[in-house]
Amino acid sequence: MRQRRPFHRKKAVTKSKTAGETQVSEEKVEEPAKPAVKYIELPPSLTVKQLSELLNVSGVDVIKQLMRNGVMAHINQVLDYEVAAAVAGEYGFSLPGKSDTAGKTAGEKEEKKYHRFHEEPSEHQVTRPPVVTIMGHVDHGKTSLLDAIRETNVIDTEAGNITQHIGAYQVEIKGNLITFLDTPGHEAFTAMRARGAQATDIAILVVAADEGVMPQTAEAIDHAKAAGVPILVAINKTDKPGANSDKVKQQLGEHNLLLEEWGGDVICVNVSAKMKEGISDLLENILVVAEVSELKANPDRPAVGVVIEAEMDKTRGPMATVLIQAGTLISGDVIVAGETWGKVKAMLNDKGKRVKKAGPSTPVIVMGLNNVCRAGDALEVVSSEKEARSKLDSRLLEQQIEAITSKRPAKLEDIYSQIASGQIKELNIILKTDVEGSIEPIKLSLEKLSNDQVKVRIIHSASGTMTESDVLLAVASKGIIIGFNARIEPGAKNLADVEGVDIRNYAVIYHIIEDVEKAMKGMLEPVYINVVDGRAEVKAVFTAGKKDKVAGVIVREGKFARGSSVMVKRDGKVIIQSNVSSLKRFKDDVKEVNTGMECGVGVDKFDDFKVGDILETYHKTKST
Ligand code: GDP
Repeated sequence: MRQRRPFHRKKAVTKSKTAGETQVSEEKVEEPAKPAVKYIELPPSLTVKQLSELLNVSGVDVIKQLMRNGVMAHINQVLDYEVAAAVAGEYGFSLPGKSDTAGKTAGEKEEKKYHRFHEEPSEHQVTRPPVVTIMGHVDHGKTSLLDAIRETNVIDTEAGNITQHIGAYQVEIKGNLITFLDTPGHEAFTAMRARGAQATDIAILVVAADEGVMPQTAEAIDHAKAAGVPILVAINKTDKPGANSDKVKQQLGEHNLLLEEWGGDVICVNVSAKMKEGISDLLENILVVAEVSELKANPDRPAVGVVIEAEMDKTRGPMATVLIQAGTLISGDVIVAGETWGKVKAMLNDKGKRVKKAGPSTPVIVMGLNNVCRAGDALEVVSSEKEARSKLDSRLLEQQIEAITSKRPAKLEDIYSQIASGQIKELNIILKTDVEGSIEPIKLSLEKLSNDQVKVRIIHSASGTMTESDVLLAVASKGIIIGFNARIEPGAKNLADVEGVDIRNYAVIYHIIEDVEKAMKGMLEPVYINVVDGRAEVKAVFTAGKKDKVAGVIVREGKFARGSSVMVKRDGKVIIQSNVSSLKRFKDDVKEVNTGMECGVGVDKFDDFKVGDILETYHKTKST
């Protein structure tokens, strides 16, 4: 296996033209079934990397284990036998004694799946600028950093040329362009992904040097990782007296970000957005990451892109800021964007200047669409107005089909069929708990459920309420949300209902494990919900026959049918669930009674009606 080319800062500013060089995928090696007692032979000394390979765990895990034992080590650091033996012991290995053979097992290496847009034959592809999103905890300086980058590096500084906020801007550094998306935060990033669009190539994680890793920092790391987007760390506010970069770096290690200086591949740069320090270092390193990611696109094809902002302008009509991902958009092209279409009348670049063309990774304002499209909509050029209309028709049809057959976010009870049909190989779980201490045991137990067919991955875990951001991550990753005594934000509940995301909250850890295990074996009963068919209010109570009571009701909504399930509610509480045993209108038995009509209703095994009771007929359906 070839090793991934290591980062090297010196290469930062040389533009990549290495068409022949490809990145080698090295899938993570599944843990082999281990015998009850595991023996290992260790050489007198070995590197952290070699030890991790021998133990079949990641280098990051070994480094973390060393940290717990008070040893700060990087991946290539040589460890002596005693230290290595202690770590091996933590992983349950027995050591027969010192050996003179160095470890040589094939190493596990986490492969990042970098996204490349619109794969095409490599001869048509040329290097394109990276598209960058800034993420991080609130107040750590995302906006300030975006401003500092813009102010110090915007190319066009002609007098009177006001830089427009169009949702993205480009800067130039030593002859190379970088595109920044202007809406910072992982929420915006994941919202786009939830809509099927991935615009970002590189995530800049801003961490304030005085505060360190905070909850949203951890969230941002997980969101970027779930998307397979490489992370570059900017430690900000280094001008502040309380700044402590080393502490931040250590915390990042604890969050599985292995920094370059410890032999990992995550670059970390010290900056101060306030003092505008470290900005060019940051930009140069973005180019390093871009180079390794080998971002390419074919400019000589009809454009495809993604809408990053859209609005109605009073004088100019619908305007959309589009990030071109491949091809070149040319004035006059006929385009389809989401559910809108039009002919490109005019285009403005991020400096507000009219342009006639926009190539890969360029953000442009597009005018000429017939309506306002939405952020995350895909844009494509079509050959004619006729094709635009038929494309829209087929998009609408696709949406309708998807709405009916949608398998997008996973449902726990559908997992088995999706595993069986090969649709999923990973069960992505977002775990939210009431207290921090519950995370690790649940996480470990869930991950242990992985088998040959499907891997259980906890893509994000944190203590706290289940938020909209969790739901979006679930949509974007086709995952489910599991709560342990966790509250759900009302907005998150609504969004989950709309998006069809499965949220399950448990009070007993064992039940979580049991349900996920059952789901993976196809034994989990689906969750049924009641759908109300008719609602009626009791206006009077009569005696029918010898002693049976019948409620005289008026149907307020829907319809009442004989034989249907019914619940009787009093003061908002269900007092009985039963069936409609009789339904009469003017002494005649009827099958159905519609809204606005009065009728007499008998309920099986119940005759304690009171005026004002609400009767609801319903049917059960599988929760979607
Ligand atoms: P955001 O919420 O992450 O977008 O953070 P902001 O960019 O709004 O910054 C939050 C606060 O931190 C503001 O008061 C900034 O002036 C301040 N700030 C941002 N960057 C720096 C920095 O490098 N040094 C110092 N001292 N303050 C900063």
